[in-house]
Amino acid sequence: MILKDKIAIVTGAGSGIGRAGALAMAREGAFVIVADRDGKAGEATVAAIHAAGGRGEAVRTDVDVDADIEALVGGTLERHGRLDILHSHAGIQVGGPLTEVAPDGMDRSWRINVRASYLAARLAMPAMMAQGGGVILITASNSGVFYDREMIAYTTSKHAVIAMARQMAIDYARHNVRVNALCPGWVDTPFNEPFIAQMGGRAAIEAYVREKIPMGRWASAEEIAEAILFLVSDRSSFMTGQALVVDGGESIA
Ligand code: NAD
Repeated sequence: MILKDKIAIVTGAGSGIGRAGALAMAREGAFVIVADRDGKAGEATVAAIHAAGGRGEAVRTDVDVDADIEALVGGTLERHGRLDILHSHAGIQVGGPLTEVAPDGMDRSWRINVRASYLAARLAMPAMMAQGGGVILITASNSGVFYDREMIAYTTSKHAVIAMARQMAIDYARHNVRVNALCPGWVDTPFNEPFIAQMGGRAAIEAYVREKIPMGRWASAEEIAEAILFLVSDRSSFMTGQALVVDGGESIA
């Protein structure tokens, strides 16, 4: 149990990678606060945690609403007295090139991918400093370390997420707070449903990842959860300000 009795918040934990990460943290002994905009999805993750013998609770949270983030972090500190791990995972993808992404799409990308992670970290940091340390993990993407076509809102926001994690890392390292970014490539979760529809079905996307990714496949959410466990536990105790890419070699190729 590498996270025994740690108190962990995971945003966007109602589905996909966030859910797999929350389950993995609970399996390793953490009490997980499952924060998702979709209340039912959050409850379902908690039910799965309990079914596996773990501990956790759901707090319905829309990270686009400041008051929700304040209630999430403040309530966690009130109920549990500490916060060891903050994984800001909720994020959105607004696709398209410059001329097709309206200002609203750019704003939403920045609010949810960047600003929400900033605000959650800003609220968590004083408590982490006071208790002698903590871990912050922010989900970026391999689109935060390379450039893909027609992705202006997503790519710029994910590059910014990594810059923000690095800035926090150097500013708070002396307080024993480690901050890293997670950069998955293609992962088989509902996040990619719009692409599956756009490409004409699952067979088409399977062919696409076979061709595009050196490892010839996409990841499962559970594979990404292993990297999450590494980054939020003492197994990465001397690692801060890093962007860990888990993408089957796509960004190298
Ligand atoms: P997913 O669609 O399976 O789950 C996302 C969850 O986030 C959902 O439960 C949704 O309700 C929740 N959510 C969305 N907006 C929210 C908000 N405003 N407040 C709170 N919760 C909200 O997605 P996933 O595969 O877990 O991916 C999500 C994150 O991972 C994003 O940050 C994304 O950029 C990143 N990512 C995903 C992939 C991939 O291929 N799946 C690759 C790289 C990066």
